[in-house]
Amino acid sequence: MEKKNIDWSNIGFGYMKTDKRYVSLYKDGKWDGGTLTEDDKITISECAGVLQYAQTIFEGLKAYTTEDGRIVTFRPDMNASRMADSARRLEMPVFPEDRFVEAVAMTVKANAAYVPPYGSGATLYLRPYMFGSNPVIGVKPADEYQFRVFCTPVGPYFKGGAKPITIKVSDFDRAAPHGTGHIKAGLNYAMSLHAIVTAHEEGYDENMYLDPATRTKVEETGGANFLFITKDNKVVTPKSDSILPSITRRSLVHVAKEYLGLEVEEREVLFDEVKDFAECGLCGTAAVISPVGKIVDHGKEICFPSGMEDMGPVTKKLYETLTGIQMGKIEAPKGWLKEIM
Ligand SMILES: *Cc1c(COP(=O)(O)O)cnc(C)c1O
Repeated sequence: MEKKNIDWSNIGFGYMKTDKRYVSLYKDGKWDGGTLTEDDKITISECAGVLQYAQTIFEGLKAYTTEDGRIVTFRPDMNASRMADSARRLEMPVFPEDRFVEAVAMTVKANAAYVPPYGSGATLYLRPYMFGSNPVIGVKPADEYQFRVFCTPVGPYFKGGAKPITIKVSDFDRAAPHGTGHIKAGLNYAMSLHAIVTAHEEGYDENMYLDPATRTKVEETGGANFLFITKDNKVVTPKSDSILPSITRRSLVHVAKEYLGLEVEEREVLFDEVKDFAECGLCGTAAVISPVGKIVDHGKEICFPSGMEDMGPVTKKLYETLTGIQMGKIEAPKGWLKEIM
């Protein structure tokens, strides 16, 4: 298969139309067989549930080329089950988990020419999503839905090395107690846009959200979970019902325990403790881990000893081990790499 003529290391994180996408329609209480299409446009009613009441959920995962030339995805079954959880919370029909994994594989295979080569740092980002498509004017769940998967090649997340970022403690809240913070729904992102635009205007890279009920505990950023390292090399990650359960974070916890022999604490993390940690990172599919060098709380700075030049040593070890597993350089736990071709 001939690769597209793309300057892989310079593509950034943006949308590029690829050849094929997967579509399955839900109507009269059932999903159809699903198909690949070249049509990148969607025609739906002006009154569609998604347009009026934001009934939409999504996932994000990557396909890439391993050192030995296979094309794989990383734990797509975890995305399938998380999307099923999201669907149930928004009263949408679940797209069967095995079919989700198959749809992802079909999309990657059909766009294999867009999967960046090993060593380029670039990957093929996959976006499964689902939305209510029939007219809904009285507030209720839609009766018809579309499940889709498209993909787009994305460049290396860190051009020229992973420089630590600076984040601010936000005055806005991301998720209400007993709300929708634990599911991957578009609505959680719509309400975060004002907060992130504001943070960027003030010169920060990201927002740290605290728990909205007491504003004393660390939750997450707009799109990544926190991981802290204590001065005696323990991994600490916040536990909360309103955090999105990051697959990267859960994988890093396994790597910390089983590959690196580190102690891990998944528990509530008070903001007051943050100043005592040695390292801090943000975990998500896009970057795996972005190191955080500084957190600013209304003018008060917390500067981690790992500094503003490099990833902290333990964070780096975690990063290298997980990306090594993903790229096929380190043996993966059973079932983590799903081989596409
Ligand atoms: C997607 C997402 C993450 C990261 O999850 P991964 O499965 O690791 O990509 C973290 N926080 C939020 C709010 C998210 O939407």
